Order: sequence, then structure tokens, then C-alpha cells
Amino acid sequence: MIARLRDQGIQDEAVLAAMYEVPRHLFVDEALSSRAYDDVSLPINYDQTISRPYIVARMIEVLRGFSGSPINRVLEVGTGCGYQAAVLAHVFPEVYTVERIAPLYERAKKLLSDLNIDNVEVRYADGNAGLPDAAPFDGIILAAAAPVMSQTLGRQLSIGGRMVLPMGRQEQWLYLVERDQSGFSESKLEQVKFVPMLMGKA
Ligand code: SAH
Repeated sequence: MIARLRDQGIQDEAVLAAMYEVPRHLFVDEALSSRAYDDVSLPINYDQTISRPYIVARMIEVLRGFSGSPINRVLEVGTGCGYQAAVLAHVFPEVYTVERIAPLYERAKKLLSDLNIDNVEVRYADGNAGLPDAAPFDGIILAAAAPVMSQTLGRQLSIGGRMVLPMGRQEQWLYLVERDQSGFSESKLEQVKFVPMLMGKA
């Protein structure tokens, strides 16, 4: 998987090391574990999917940037099975992740704890509101697509902070949003396919 990620253009050694460390097969159903390291998204029940390895690596690489200010505290919206949160935990000191589907939240929380990953806080909440009590974040990463960038989440970014998110209706694109003193700037990166960001808890 790591050699393939390099071939696909992932260059950040910290991200590659984290992807090497996290046992991806533990995050999918046993029946699918033989495909866990293929470059495909896989079902994790409740109509949700675990993103393919390339997109997890790419989003975290973009979030880190290659220079820029250090990122300490990160928020992930859309815990799903917890895989991306586990990778984030290997790269950043402090990770918060929120999930709106109760059984996914429960399962991810248990798995991360079983793996002794203790720098991730998993919350059961509607990620549209972000996490006001833990904000500001140096980085925010969205695992579900919204039609437009949420102002609420934008306000929870620190100055110098970065947000990586899929955005769009019919066609989705990956965006990097950077916040500085004067506001937000957007870069459009590549076409992607994510599940939609939904409202409320389930
Ligand atoms: N990062 C995940 C990918 C999960 S798929 C992984 O590694 O497996 C996207 C997830 O976003 C789904 O679990 C979905 O339930 C969740 N989601 C969608 N809208 C949400 C919202 N408003 N708040 C929190 N989670 C949300």
C-alpha cells in the first residue's frame, strides 16, 4: 500500500509512516479484510464508507502542507470507522473527531481505545456545529461533502489554520481553505467522491 501511495504522488514521509503504522484491516468488517489495503473505498454499514487509502493520505498531506505553521489541534468531521482519525493521531498531537451515527461512534471509540490511541477524543455530535468547546483548531478535515463551506467551521479555525474538505453538489472537488488575518482563501485541488454531510444526530 505504501509503495502504491508513493506512486500516486504522496510524498510526505510523516503521512506515509502513519499509514504504515495503522492496521487498516481492523477498521473494516472481517469479510472485507482481505481488501483492506486495496485502493478502494469499502462499506462500513449505515450507508457509509471508509475512504480509499489514497484520499486519506492526500487529505492529511494537504492539511499538513510542506511548510507553514505547525498544526497541533485537529478536528475531523465524520469519524466513520475511525481509520482516518487513527492516522491523524499518528501525525498530530491532539485530534478531535465527531460522528453523527451512534453505532459508528461507539465502534470507533472502542477500537481506537483498544489500539491504545489516546490522543483522539471521539464525540457523538452533529459536525455541522463543529466543536465550540474545543475550538480553535489548527486544522479541520471533513470526511463528508457539503455544497458550500460551513461558516461555523471556518470560524473555529485558528488564524493560520487550514481546512481540507470535499465540496460540491453533482461534482465534488477537494479544497484547501486557509485562514489568515484578513480572511479565507480557497484552493481547488482535485475531483473526489464522498458521502454527503447530513444534518443532526442519528
Ligand atoms: N473518516 C472516515 C470516513 C467516514 S465516511 C473513515 O476513516 O472511515 C463519512 C462519515 O461522515 C460517515 O460516518 C457519516 O456518518 C459522517 N457524517 C456525515 N455527516 C455528518 C455530520 N453532520 N456530523 C458528523 N458526522 C457526519
